[in-house]
Amino acid sequence: MKHMLQEILDHFEIKPVNEGTWTGQVFVGSNASLLDVTSPVNGQSIAKIKCTDRNAYDKIVEDAKTAFLDWRNVPAPKRGEVVRQFGDRLRAEKKFLGKLVAFEMGKSLQESYGEVQEMIDICDFAVGLSRQLYGLTMHSERPMHRMYEQWHPLGIVGIISAFNFPVAVWSWNSAIAWICGNVCIWKASEKTPLTALVCHKLMADVLEANNLPGAISSLVTGAKEVGEWMSADKHIPLISATGSVRMGQAVAQEVAKRFGKSLLELGGNNAMIITENADLNIAIPATYFGAIGTSGQRCTSTRRLIVHETVIEQVIERLFHAYQQVKIGNPLDADTHMGPLVDEAAVKSYVSGIEECKQQGGKFLLEGGALQIDGLENGYYVKPSIALVDANLPVLQKELFAPLLYIISYKDLKEAIAIQNNVPQGLSSTIMTMHMQEAECFLSHNGSDCGIANVNIGTSGAEIGGAFGGEKETGGGRESGSDAWKNYMRRQTVTINYSNELPLSQGIRFEM
Ligand code: NAD
Repeated sequence: MKHMLQEILDHFEIKPVNEGTWTGQVFVGSNASLLDVTSPVNGQSIAKIKCTDRNAYDKIVEDAKTAFLDWRNVPAPKRGEVVRQFGDRLRAEKKFLGKLVAFEMGKSLQESYGEVQEMIDICDFAVGLSRQLYGLTMHSERPMHRMYEQWHPLGIVGIISAFNFPVAVWSWNSAIAWICGNVCIWKASEKTPLTALVCHKLMADVLEANNLPGAISSLVTGAKEVGEWMSADKHIPLISATGSVRMGQAVAQEVAKRFGKSLLELGGNNAMIITENADLNIAIPATYFGAIGTSGQRCTSTRRLIVHETVIEQVIERLFHAYQQVKIGNPLDADTHMGPLVDEAAVKSYVSGIEECKQQGGKFLLEGGALQIDGLENGYYVKPSIALVDANLPVLQKELFAPLLYIISYKDLKEAIAIQNNVPQGLSSTIMTMHMQEAECFLSHNGSDCGIANVNIGTSGAEIGGAFGGEKETGGGRESGSDAWKNYMRRQTVTINYSNELPLSQGIRFEM
């Protein structure tokens, strides 16, 4: 597998600075410390990455500020053209980049290709959007006055991303931020820096080919300390941070102290309600994919299944059957459903989550836990698990980032919706029903309190066309499609007087 990695990095012309230490072409400074990168596939160290030091960070910010002065003057549709070229590079490199995502992060090859496809899709979306950064016009209350609003870029957008979507989250933010006229500094997850180096290189090539400053897209490497520098940095008007609630709380407070803006995409604790009117031929595969996809490490993974008491036995039986089909193993094998968890700490947290659930009275219908795969003994593989639990169990309040599915029984829909909403997080939610009244109730203001509410599709796997994000502890941010672009711009209200008078608003008279 080392050979495969080498082949991919050679393909992208990412070269180590010293034997075994990588920065690609990223500026890291002379005091760079080293970060050890391990592949979850086989548990082996695959690279040592140099981390950005403080002096280098300050220089990167300075360069970004200068690059912004140029980039904001490039017309938006022309900025879209640059993003189109980046999307084309991604199209050409989908296979290579997808493999690297699978190897470095551990998600299945199918899902890894899907992640790169999301990057391509958001580039396409951003290209179209680059001609649609519309502002409203208003009728002024004063004669011969015109009012309208316009949108200007913010400056530097700082992007802090999580390991589980190591490349897509950056592109959701950066593609939109760029066409809006911003420059971006990306702090990728310390668990997935190689994929970040490759993405950075691809965009750097595109900028160079267009004679544009490289600092329109910068990458900083390292652990949370680098993210903390960004959060506290008054030169970065917007921090878009994706990760745990704990991280979001720290970032939000730091950014608020300097009156910066933050866009937060944090943990989820997503539920699917299966009513007595559900089509189980849809509900069962949706649950299966939602619970074990990315080994339960999606922010939108299905964690809680709230099932009507009349169909619960059937649901359990069919899910049990579906779970027998799960293929766990090397994510680089095309037919693997479930690769490893990201690291050893994730396996430990899963195992202790199972224990905690048992201690609170959870009844395990399917025993999960750590798993050894022949030939990949040091990889971080686990078996998925299913537990039947009471709605009031404290474990239900937490996001366990692993493939543990809780099943809860309910009697009436009002109760099911109350159970669903009774958690601190509010990202994704689903109802499985063929009954129009049940679906509409779930979608109404009396229904789901989440940022995403689905009918007859699972909780995971959002399309880029919609605004993505969640309520409550999920952070309230919206990224990607719809009008989420407004988060990356500042609104300016303009009033023009084309008369020879100076009428004041609200009819105020101020005689001189
Ligand atoms: P994490 O919070 O440990 O790390 C995420 C990023 O934040 C990393 O780059 C990390 O270095 C940085 N970071 C950590 N603490 C920081 C601090 N105090 N200041 C600045 N930066 C800091 O998360 P993770 O384990 O990589 O990812 C899993 C979590 O991300 C889960 O909770 C998952 O639900 C969430 N997630 C949410 C979404 C969403 O869109 N809502 C998408 C993907 C992942």
